[in-house]
Amino acid sequence: MSGAAGFVGSHLCERLLNDGHEVAGFDNFITGSLRNLEHLRQRPGFHFFEHDVTAPIPDLGRFDAVLHLASLASPKFYYAHPIATLESGSTGTRNMLEIARRFEARFMVTSTSECYGDPEIHPQVETYWGNVNPVGIRSCYDESKRYAEAMTMAYHRAHGVRTAIARIFNTYGPRMALDDGRVVPAFVDQALRGEPLTIFGDGSQTRSFCYVRDLVDGLIRLTLSDERYPVNLGNPREMTILEFAEHVRQAVNPDLPLRFEPLPQDDPKRRRPDIAKAKSVLGWEPRISLEEGMKETIAYFRTRVNQAS
Ligand code: NAD
Ligand code: UDP
Repeated sequence: MSGAAGFVGSHLCERLLNDGHEVAGFDNFITGSLRNLEHLRQRPGFHFFEHDVTAPIPDLGRFDAVLHLASLASPKFYYAHPIATLESGSTGTRNMLEIARRFEARFMVTSTSECYGDPEIHPQVETYWGNVNPVGIRSCYDESKRYAEAMTMAYHRAHGVRTAIARIFNTYGPRMALDDGRVVPAFVDQALRGEPLTIFGDGSQTRSFCYVRDLVDGLIRLTLSDERYPVNLGNPREMTILEFAEHVRQAVNPDLPLRFEPLPQDDPKRRRPDIAKAKSVLGWEPRISLEEGMKETIAYFRTRVNQAS
């Protein structure tokens, strides 16, 4: 698995080990951290390698499944590293697909709702081709994932690799980085420090937040399925960013002020997954409410903020 030391990767490693699998994880720590894997390092069957997946992958023997998560994932980080972002989606995806081809292993890539860009249809269904600005500041991420999807389909068509493409919508939970910049860690970190919550734009843009345990379950079901075309994985409960800020205030400190800042270029106005396909093909839908997921997430961030101060 690439991206093993990241937020989603660390949870996926844990679930796979709990299910009795042996896991080899790669990460170059561009945004991930060994801290995310600390509790797994001594577990039998877990192997970790510091490695950049845009370089050829060392020969480690056979794999039954190859899971490609490595990517810059937060707008803050992909704005800062646009070329590395494009490389992890292009060269990185190709390198990981080659392993799957060599060992006739299953392959799963974590694509994104960003493939839909600033969507003109709502909610977003997998058959929608998207509205992406190919030269805007988000394009390094959006186009790297669209390329990754195209390369994945090409390996399936040309080499018969059993591929899977997850289009992940906003997912949150413990082990997101404190400085990640995405809205959930940003608001929770600000709230716990007693700072104003930074609303980009007027806060009327919407997102739909999925708890990481639900996502991981969907990723495993998808990897084991025979579905080759993309499948949306996300929670269809949609809210404005202002509503989400209110949720965080109520959970942490109702007196926190809001601070309005400019909306970044091409920030999607509305985002909600249509998960009919995941329900019918994978028998999957999210089970964890925002209230329950945020409780665990805030508890995690409380510990991290206390450690950092
Ligand atoms: P994350 O930043 O926590 O994890 C990504 C990991 O990939 C990091 O540990 C990073 O160090 C590693 N990485 C990046 N480039 C690498 C390279 N070249 N070689 C090796 N390792 C590399 O982000 P995340 O939220 O855990 O995202 C995991 C995957 O899911 C990503 O592919 C992301 O695009 C996708 N995704 C996530 C979300 C979400 O809301 N969390 C939404 C859509 C898609
Ligand atoms: N956002 C915000 N304040 C922040 C961080 C993000 O208002 O401190 C907004 C951002 O403009 C976007 C939404 O929250 O509309 C989700 O942003 P995030 O970076 O989490 O992910 P995105 O869905 O844009 O990839």
